[in-house]
Amino acid sequence: MARIFCIANQKGGVGKTTTTVNLSAGLAKVGQRVLMVDLDPQGNATMGSGVDKRKLPLSVYDVLLESASVKEAAVFAEKCGYHVLGASRDLAGAEVELVALDHREKRLKLALADVHDDYDFVLIDCPPSLSLLTLNGLCSAHGVVVPMQCEYFALEGLSDLVHTIKQVHANLNRDLQIIGLLRVMFDPRITLQQQVSEQLKAHFGDKVFNTVIPRNVRLAEAPSYGLPGVVFDPSARGSVAFVEFAREMVDRTQGL
Ligand code: ADP
Ligand code: MG
Repeated sequence: MARIFCIANQKGGVGKTTTTVNLSAGLAKVGQRVLMVDLDPQGNATMGSGVDKRKLPLSVYDVLLESASVKEAAVFAEKCGYHVLGASRDLAGAEVELVALDHREKRLKLALADVHDDYDFVLIDCPPSLSLLTLNGLCSAHGVVVPMQCEYFALEGLSDLVHTIKQVHANLNRDLQIIGLLRVMFDPRITLQQQVSEQLKAHFGDKVFNTVIPRNVRLAEAPSYGLPGVVFDPSARGSVAFVEFAREMVDRTQGL
């Protein structure tokens, strides 16, 4: 049975996509079968896995509208070692089209039921909003991984997301839980970041992952080569941290 996780945070630019592609590659590296789903119309996770969103014959859009199955639409990103259910530009319109349909927030969940035995992990990259697309991700998942930067407003920004997760848990998906908060783009030389990191631990306890992802320029360079950092430069500090994080995820989510 696949364990399904959303990488979510309603803020943009916090490291969701970087986390999704590098965790996918890290999990593949430690022997897990992974499907990465790109629910963000920007398609960055698709491109960042070396899959050209402009040339995709079928995408997650077709899956949401039930004109293709996950098996038909997913492609194998050979260099990365995982499958990609990519986002194409049509996905931006899906939001509007979905509103009129039955089970509009459960379409991804229903589609993924088909591939439960084919993967150990399904990771869903969510857009920076609490939209119907994100809701489809949250309804499909066993849990949420929240990447965050240790900045001044970090805790404040979390409350909307935590509220939404509680609502989805109460009304749509009893399985849903926060798996953990992942500190990303961390720079230990910045005192404020250390302070916020301590606050996070005080507030959320063991919901804060042990692994910390450092700020590392190799992770930022990798997407322009169509690769996750973990594949582009495996020895970079950021890449090593993401493989470590993959191991932590395997341990933490055992039995889910
Ligand atoms: P989101 O998906 O939440 O919008 P991204 O993953 O696209 O965020 O990250 C935003 C920007 O920060 C990107 O340019 C990305 O390359 C960069 N970035 C993300 N994580 C790191 C990191 N650990 N070190 C350096 N740059 C990073
Ligand atoms: Mg993104």
